[in-house]
Amino acid sequence: MANKTRIVLPGEKIGVEELFFPGSNCWLREGDIFATVAGILEIDQDTRCAHVRPLLRTVFLEKGSSIYAEVAATYAHYAILRCVRDLKAPWEWFTGVIDLNADRRRLRSNILLVKVGDVVRCEYVGKRVGGYPLFTLIGRKNGVLIANCDVCRAPLIHIGRGRMRCPRCGNRETRKASEDYLYTARRKKRIR
Ligand SMILES: [Zn+2]
Repeated sequence: MANKTRIVLPGEKIGVEELFFPGSNCWLREGDIFATVAGILEIDQDTRCAHVRPLLRTVFLEKGSSIYAEVAATYAHYAILRCVRDLKAPWEWFTGVIDLNADRRRLRSNILLVKVGDVVRCEYVGKRVGGYPLFTLIGRKNGVLIANCDVCRAPLIHIGRGRMRCPRCGNRETRKASEDYLYTARRKKRIR
């Protein structure tokens, strides 16, 4: 995660394209990167991406409201999300977190819930962790909507109860799948 911070103002030059990529609230013009809002400059050393975290938080969420997100990073206890409230405005993304331990406790299961790159739908639980809104994967509609195979990156097929199978290489994984997961194994017709 970010390990260098500095306060920047709108229009302030942050750096040049050769050093890092423009992330959230940054603007690239002729090789120079500028801040578009007043905030804290964060440079992610892993991805070489510069972000400006607005000092004035503009994300207003109501408890129980749903968002879509891409899982950006996972740790033992938390997953970091790149969230969007409106799929038609993907540039208005914000950071959120999932408490993986809390969700596992509620599911009474110790399976791996999400992996980096998964697209998920989750619900705001009404509180923040480290300043970031906290979300949950609990609920039938919530969970992973699409996940890729860790071995060959093909989209995984949900074969039921969170078990996933890769149609290309046969790899098996687990996820907390939403009932709207994109690819599901067709159930065999029950013979009565
Ligand atoms: Zn595979």
